Amino acid sequence: MSINASGWKPTTPVAGGNAAPTFTGNKALMLEEPLIFEIGSTETTGVDFADGDVAGSRLGDLTRKSAIGLPGLSEQETVRHYTRLSRQNYAIDLGLFPLGSCTMKHNPRLNEKVARMPGFADIHPLQPVDTVQGALGVINELAVWLIKLTGMYGVAMSPKAGAHGELCGILCIKAALEKRGEGHRKVVLVPESAHGTNPATAAFAGFSVEDIPATDEGRIDTAALKARLGPDVAAVMITNPNTCGLFERDLKEISDAVHAAGGYVYCDGANFNAIVGRVRPGDLGVDAMHINLHKTFSTPHGGGGPGSGPVVLSEALAPFGPLPYTARTKDGYVHLIEEERAEEFSNEHFGGKLDSFGRMVAFHGQMGMFTRALAYILSHGADGLKQVAEDAVLNANYVLRSLEDVLDAPFAGAGPCMHEAIFSDKGFAAGFSTIDAAKALIDEGFHPMTMYFPLVVHGAMLIEPTETESRGALDQFIGALRSVAERAKAGDPSLKTAPHFAPRARLDETLAARKPVLTWKPPVVQAEAAE
Ligand SMILES: *Cc1c(COP(=O)(O)O)cnc(C)c1O
Repeated sequence: MSINASGWKPTTPVAGGNAAPTFTGNKALMLEEPLIFEIGSTETTGVDFADGDVAGSRLGDLTRKSAIGLPGLSEQETVRHYTRLSRQNYAIDLGLFPLGSCTMKHNPRLNEKVARMPGFADIHPLQPVDTVQGALGVINELAVWLIKLTGMYGVAMSPKAGAHGELCGILCIKAALEKRGEGHRKVVLVPESAHGTNPATAAFAGFSVEDIPATDEGRIDTAALKARLGPDVAAVMITNPNTCGLFERDLKEISDAVHAAGGYVYCDGANFNAIVGRVRPGDLGVDAMHINLHKTFSTPHGGGGPGSGPVVLSEALAPFGPLPYTARTKDGYVHLIEEERAEEFSNEHFGGKLDSFGRMVAFHGQMGMFTRALAYILSHGADGLKQVAEDAVLNANYVLRSLEDVLDAPFAGAGPCMHEAIFSDKGFAAGFSTIDAAKALIDEGFHPMTMYFPLVVHGAMLIEPTETESRGALDQFIGALRSVAERAKAGDPSLKTAPHFAPRARLDETLAARKPVLTWKPPVVQAEAAE
């Protein structure tokens, strides 16, 4: 593939070319698809059950009084409906997904194969412990790896996503403070370079949140943070590497100061793929950190799920972690430590100090993701995991240095970035902004980057290529973004109406967010309307 995107000249937009609109609205393999309410009917169904011997309903008053009116389709119509819709999706299996902060990387198929083995996939959380030793062994072995990789003391495996892990960590901190009789510490400090879930978590757990400014080079203002420490501060929440794609170099110094002032350090570890095998957060004084298994250790997680957010804990916080813990006891069995075994476990591992704050979930966590993560870790090995971090950083820096001549890169002067490259819309023609570049990328066949985040950068474009992209894929993406950036700087009017080739053109996103239409109403029939 050759890439020569420089020297771009404005051309007439090709939206749909010169072709006449088609009768169906379809564009070759891109098929239009109405809402299921518009094509389905209550008379149609894909299943054909004989009327059975139905016993009387046991629902009493709760029995449905009238028909629910859900639209039905035949089996073939159902399959086509959802297959057509699915083809309008972008996916990591189609191409590079530069969405910053999300770590959308390739998910090795080996993980999927392992997760689907019946001994892992078909078990029930209430099965007797001696029938699920393999599965519990996986949870325990993964826990040991996570503790080793982070240099921490314990790990709570059950939280179901990164943000849930943050809540778990903050609840540990709350429990530890209350145990010390310092429940009056109500302030959580959150630097501007932290992820948005951090202040949301602290507020949700009942703390008041105070911002700590960032320096011009995109890192925490350490002096400002230290100046704010005091007897009302419960914790700091720091994303490292941060959302500007930079390593918070002062973290150890900050942790020491926070501990000296009686607080705890929460680290958002969602970006662990940039440092895994190279840096152990435990060495930096971190007390609690969630790991997004779906990001760093690869599980498909587009569209909001599934997630898994184990939280590694320091010696100070581990006793307060949620049950269950897993532990291999002297009998060689792996046990889930629930309330019944808590005392014995406490004496063996916590010097009798186990004082769990409670639980985060009904059972033990996301089994499918534990198996995927362990398969990923074992297939990479210690050296492979280290290379994950090196390649993530190398790829992001390749993007940064390949585009900094055409896009403003506000922190490029601060040295190399970590796993994410950040650009701004400075230098675009008047009236053009990040959204125009993002929409034009859709026409180029890419999912857009993260837009307007982090807030510290005007018109931010946050790009995380991840470690799994090849040089060829990166070059193609860089070529596309270079071309788009040149058009934005030249003020190409066709950019303002992009995307031109997507099933839907530019949408009014503000209107959609402010006045979302969340219900479907049947079109009013003329005759009825006239009455
Ligand atoms: C993704 C992410 C989170 C939230 O994790 P979820 O698993 O989506 O809940 C928190 N912080 C950072 C930096 C992230 O990238």
